[in-house]
Amino acid sequence: MTDPNAQLSRRLDALRVDYVLQLPDRIAELRAAWLAIQRATDADTREGALVQLRRIAHRLVGSGKTFGLPAVSEAAIPIEQLADALLDGDAAAQTTDVGALVEQLARLDFTNIIAEAAPAPAPLRPAPRSARPAPEVVVGLIWLTGLTEDETQYLSTVLQRYGFTVDQLEPDDVPEEIREQRPAAVVAGMDGVKEVVTGERWDDPATPLVVISSDDRIEARLSAVRIGASGFVTRPFSGDQLVDLLDRLLEHADPEPYRVILVEDDDFLAESFSTSLEAENMRVERLADPMKILKVCQSFAPDIIVTDLYLPEADGMEMAQVIRQHGGFDGVPILFVSSETSLNRQMTARRFGADDFLTKPLTSAQLVTAVRSRAIRYRELRRLMDRDSLTGLLNHGRTVARLEREIDRCREAGEPLSVAALDLDHFKRVNDTYGHAAGDRVLRTVSRLFLQRLRGTDAAGRFGGEEFVLVLPSADAEAAFNLLDKLREAFASIEHVFDEHRFSATCSIGLATLRDDDDQTSLLARADAALYQAKQDGRNRIGLE
Ligand code: GH3
Ligand code: MG
Ligand code: MG
Ligand code: MG
Repeated sequence: MTDPNAQLSRRLDALRVDYVLQLPDRIAELRAAWLAIQRATDADTREGALVQLRRIAHRLVGSGKTFGLPAVSEAAIPIEQLADALLDGDAAAQTTDVGALVEQLARLDFTNIIAEAAPAPAPLRPAPRSARPAPEVVVGLIWLTGLTEDETQYLSTVLQRYGFTVDQLEPDDVPEEIREQRPAAVVAGMDGVKEVVTGERWDDPATPLVVISSDDRIEARLSAVRIGASGFVTRPFSGDQLVDLLDRLLEHADPEPYRVILVEDDDFLAESFSTSLEAENMRVERLADPMKILKVCQSFAPDIIVTDLYLPEADGMEMAQVIRQHGGFDGVPILFVSSETSLNRQMTARRFGADDFLTKPLTSAQLVTAVRSRAIRYRELRRLMDRDSLTGLLNHGRTVARLEREIDRCREAGEPLSVAALDLDHFKRVNDTYGHAAGDRVLRTVSRLFLQRLRGTDAAGRFGGEEFVLVLPSADAEAAFNLLDKLREAFASIEHVFDEHRFSATCSIGLATLRDDDDQTSLLARADAALYQAKQDGRNRIGLE
């Protein structure tokens, strides 16, 4: 097993060597800029070369310390300051010999760094893979073990209805099997659980273990906790109850990786930062050109943007303003990383939409901590803003926005798109007969069914009350009909258990498919008309436009 920390540090070492190896090129660029300044015959050319000189020096100031080479930063600081003074027309600066400063930088010797890192793997090589191929992850696979035959039968039926895949195992088989194939969760009867765990504790943090027990006493609960179970259910139990529990456990077991847009024109810093972030299971989209930011925000839906302050074309502050003015990405945190230490500039950046300021040099641990804490907070906030609190589905506004986006995307890709309007049948009766709380439970159940059955690219929204809208990109009318009809049947076959009541419920669906002259309003209107027709025709069916 390779230690991920050691792997990361080797990779950063390799980056450092690469950094040293490209320093002569940067120094050559500094020399060229300095030469161009001296040779310039007009003010514009001279200013252009000065800006260039400043930019290269500035990057060296920021990157040198980050790569553990403070001497580079120190040697580049006077060059940057001089370029600044010359740009400001400072007369005293005219007499300073920038060339000498550049040569001072050129004389720095880093051969020791290269020698020390010599046995390291080749720079920028992807992390070595373990000899064993990664186990295939089957989403939603649940193992049942050590339960009675009736329980196994019952749970298989209920769990499969919600879209889980179920496999039954003998307790003895579990430790062997777990290495081959990763289930999402294991549900084990208390009697067989000792064999399942084998060691002292259940030691697979990615796979929650749920224990089913006939014994409700604290001693039994404690022993379940001690062997590492994440859930404890006492007999008699209902399938719904277990599905609820699994939903909660699985949501936390595998949070979707945080998505980071990294805007940094210095390739070395960008590589170093993204290596550190990716090592912590974040997804990084690198962007050197700030002019592309809105497009990338659209497609990548970042949880946070990390940006350099000084960039070509537009600087980080201008970019932050553009993002803030674009309503869609209003709240996304923007984190500036820069060697800028002036409090004034930092204040200005904040006024223009920066959430925070990290000063280079920066350790990877500092960066990762700062990025993660802000990304987590933003995701929680967005969940509250975008989701319906009862069902966890997208709210009305978000659903329409998502539909609008998917219409654009499907048009561009030349793909079909279908939309379903779904309404529960005679839902008022459910409330009147079994109570409002039972009705709420049914709303949650149908929503969970959407989440389990739909593909990752689909979207489900609660439009209000007991009305839902499903957005199905890339699905033509036939594909959408097949999917929706299975969904309709699955919902109708669920036995809702509430207090002493057992009942079932149905829904009606209206289906519409995107046409050339559609916008989201006309498409939704047709789905709604089709839903009305389905109700007229007797409910528990799909109406077509
Ligand atoms: P139809 O088959 O024609 O759709 O009949 P229906 O009874 O479902 O339609 P109607 O629009 O008359 O009633 C909708 C009911 O949905 C009324 C309301 O009590 C119930 N409802 C709306 N929102 C909620 C909610 O959040 N929780 C619960 N429990 N009930 C809700
Ligand atoms: Mg920069
Ligand atoms: Mg209804
Ligand atoms: Mg209704």
